[in-house]
Amino acid sequence: MKRRKTESTDEIYSILKESKLALSHDMVQEKISNNMDRATIYRILNRFCKDKIVHKVRGDDGKQYFAFCFNCQQKTHKHNHFHFRCKNCGKVECLESEIKIDLPKNYVLENFNGVISGVCSNCT
Ligand SMILES: [Zn+2]
Ligand SMILES: [Zn+2]
Ligand SMILES: [Zn+2]
Repeated sequence: MKRRKTESTDEIYSILKESKLALSHDMVQEKISNNMDRATIYRILNRFCKDKIVHKVRGDDGKQYFAFCFNCQQKTHKHNHFHFRCKNCGKVECLESEIKIDLPKNYVLENFNGVISGVCSNCT
């Protein structure tokens, strides 16, 4: 029993890492080889968020997307990049460029979670 649990965690970890895109719960489930129940996948994804391995964004389609943390600040786990969702192929990716936000005086930015939708370069 214990072993299977670790295997599931490892598999989801590599799926996210290798995809380089943000994946919804359904997308992760599609890529998984064995039958893993939805609750288990959710639990693993949310634990990755807590462990600062992935970050999640909510798309303008209302779905949550989980993206592997490649270049966020590991210590604070701050995210200051936009995400792009292609309306044609459905992919969601982290955009590299950092966003500067003008906040009122003495306000401290902790997390930024933005999604832009449009059409990606593969689809134009
Ligand atoms: Zn992160
Ligand atoms: Zn596209
Ligand atoms: Zn991201």
